[in-house]
Amino acid sequence: MLQHVELEEKRLVDYREIVGDETIAEIERLAEPLQGARVVHVNATAFGGGVAELLQALVPLMRDVGLDAHWQVIEGADEFFDVTKACHNGLQGMDVPFTAEMKEIWRKYNQMNAEHFELTRNGGRPTFVVVHDPQPAGLRHYYESGMDTHWIWRCHIDTSEPNPAYWDFFAPYVNEYEAGIFTMDQYVGSGVSFDHQAIIPPTIDPLSPKNMPMGMDEARAIVADFGPDMERPLVTQVSRFDPWKDPLGVIDAYRIVREQVSDVQLALVGSMASDDPEGWYYLDKTSRHAGEDFDIHILHNFHGVGAREVAAFQTASDVVVQKSTREGFGLVVTEALWKRKPVLGGDVGGIPLQIIDGETGFLVDSVEACADKIQYLLTHPDEADRMGERAREHVRRNFLTPRHLADYLRLFAEL
Ligand code: UDP
Repeated sequence: MLQHVELEEKRLVDYREIVGDETIAEIERLAEPLQGARVVHVNATAFGGGVAELLQALVPLMRDVGLDAHWQVIEGADEFFDVTKACHNGLQGMDVPFTAEMKEIWRKYNQMNAEHFELTRNGGRPTFVVVHDPQPAGLRHYYESGMDTHWIWRCHIDTSEPNPAYWDFFAPYVNEYEAGIFTMDQYVGSGVSFDHQAIIPPTIDPLSPKNMPMGMDEARAIVADFGPDMERPLVTQVSRFDPWKDPLGVIDAYRIVREQVSDVQLALVGSMASDDPEGWYYLDKTSRHAGEDFDIHILHNFHGVGAREVAAFQTASDVVVQKSTREGFGLVVTEALWKRKPVLGGDVGGIPLQIIDGETGFLVDSVEACADKIQYLLTHPDEADRMGERAREHVRRNFLTPRHLADYLRLFAEL
């Protein structure tokens, strides 16, 4: 049996005040014909990274509106996650080899997980299996299921310009799904087609500990406990330690800013996801790049940085950066915008959906541009506040969990 993730209860009505009556009524209407339908989400980790974050909100709300929703996590040893990390990189276009042995490892673990996967019948009601990302994408191929089961592949990564060695391998597995969900149109790679296709950008949960309102005093006190001096300007990036998130570029930008704003500090806050073995290596690389500069604070969950601490950094920082060079969607951007922070982000993946250049933040495509805009926001706090208000409203309208739930219900109904 795969690991079943235990979840807290959530109630849709609690979101009414934030998203408004109309959205709630629409969700209730969409859920009506789907009462009792079974929904099983499958992914590679219960902790760390955006997908785990999404499912923590989505699955309880699916239950609340009457679906029999579950979340299962596949199993794998290091050799598997080493391969899936390479797959993640390869599908996002990195030039990394994909050997016959790696393919064999991926197949072996997908087959094993399919054998352990349980999809108990539920009295003739429809069943939707939503498989997230490439790690478990072979489940559909290896699992024998009846006709009343709808298989959906949910791709969270940027597959617009994949390394062909990886894409050609994955496309046939992915093609076996009835439906595909992508964050953006451009991510639907060539050679795959589905009977149903949906474009659904991810969302954040405004009622999760990470996104609940936090007072500035509390936020500053929490951050100060980790070392930064709250009397001085603080720039933060929250993300896994991953080459695509470009923490080294953020350090370089900070160094340029320091020439003008000499007391600026930098925090790089990242969680070590269980399915990301490369994280430790890249954390080490980042620390070496930072060298002996004690104004660069490199922190992660093993220092005790959990959801509330991430929230505190996003709330108390003067500027939030997400200098990715590839990005699926970038939930950390959404989280910071929701906290009324204009964000400086790479012009990649889902970031430009969120950062309207000059309105809710700035899109930056180089270290120099990033430094320039950090400096601008540090020296124009009133303008930063105005942008922050627009940022929050942009997220409220477009990127909160109830909208995500509605999109899923619409797709289920279509199937
Ligand atoms: N995150 C966290 N602690 C950290 C770093 C990241 O909880 O130290 C969370 C972050 O708040 C966000 C998610 O991990 O909710 C990362 O999602 P994103 O879409 O930004 O990137 P991904 O890791 O999925 O590429």
